[in-house]
Amino acid sequence: MENWEAYVRKVVPYVPGEQPQDERMIKLNTNENPYPPAPGVLRALKEFDTDKLRLYPEPTCKVLVDAIAKNYGLDSDQVFVGVGSDDVLAMIFLTFFNSKKPVLFPDITYSFYDVWSNMLRIPYEVRALDENFLIKKEDYYGENGGVIFPNPNAPTGILMELSEIEDIIAHNRDVIVVVDEAYIDFGGVSALPLIEKYDNLLVVQTFSKSRSLAGMRVGYAMGNPKLIRYINDVKYSFNSYTMNQTALALGVEAIRDGAYFEETRQKIIDTREWTKKKLKALGFKFGDSMSNFIFAAHERVPAKELFEALRKKHIYVRYFSKERIDNYLRISIGTREEMETFVEFLENYLQ
Ligand code: PMP
Repeated sequence: MENWEAYVRKVVPYVPGEQPQDERMIKLNTNENPYPPAPGVLRALKEFDTDKLRLYPEPTCKVLVDAIAKNYGLDSDQVFVGVGSDDVLAMIFLTFFNSKKPVLFPDITYSFYDVWSNMLRIPYEVRALDENFLIKKEDYYGENGGVIFPNPNAPTGILMELSEIEDIIAHNRDVIVVVDEAYIDFGGVSALPLIEKYDNLLVVQTFSKSRSLAGMRVGYAMGNPKLIRYINDVKYSFNSYTMNQTALALGVEAIRDGAYFEETRQKIIDTREWTKKKLKALGFKFGDSMSNFIFAAHERVPAKELFEALRKKHIYVRYFSKERIDNYLRISIGTREEMETFVEFLENYLQ
């Protein structure tokens, strides 16, 4: 090894789901929204003045922060925006998880949490989900350096009751508790109202799933103004111009159109419930997902085999070769037609 290599910050990176360039594919592998963004997004993109691109974007992201605050009935100083919720979460790890005590998160959860912890040298401990993949609230009592979990959890899709979330927050008043609500709009109850009661709570959401803007990269955190100020201090110390001009303009349109949001998320919920019935009949078992994906294992056929067979037919789902979950497929909810093709394939394959 050359000497300089001893000083490299070596990390094991997060592996995102693949983005195949396959024209014929049914893409059910990265929990994207199968419907296009709200019509206003297209309009704003068409009308976008490219001369604006000479200029740096407005660093406080005011138009977008204001639009998000208005949507939730918050003050603008309760909102932080970033380049997808991955950026927001990374800034939160960097800002608040700065204790010698371990940060706590579930053993089966969003696989970016341990990547950030390792990269930033944040001590952490995982807490095992129970045999039904439920988070046990008591596991998060006691001294720690912070708590983070998704609700619904990923990749299980299972939702936790708001009362249990409040219990975890109430037991952790000395640290920051982060509820990652990437999938909350598909049937969950948000912890957002609790930010008025608990100054140690951050609720993180994204435009990537329920607002069909994964490709634009917009995420946000909501919490007490003091927390938001601290994240902004770190953001400005890292990269002042996070949100590009188009993300600001298009993001505003995506959050403004409440009717389109309701219509598309309801379609996804309906398709999810339809898919659950079909999968159950085919011999799959799964928790009661409240997200835009189903995490399912077949009673007979190994997940890896199904994953590969689907792939050959240009149907992409997600498979994690990780302990406890290596017999599960994570199946994103597409359009009704896409899910019909998916189910039809399984009906033939599993005969
Ligand atoms: N949190 C969870 C639980 C997720 O599954 C994802 C999607 N990979 C994210 C956050 C990040 O999403 P984005 O950066 O697109 O907002």
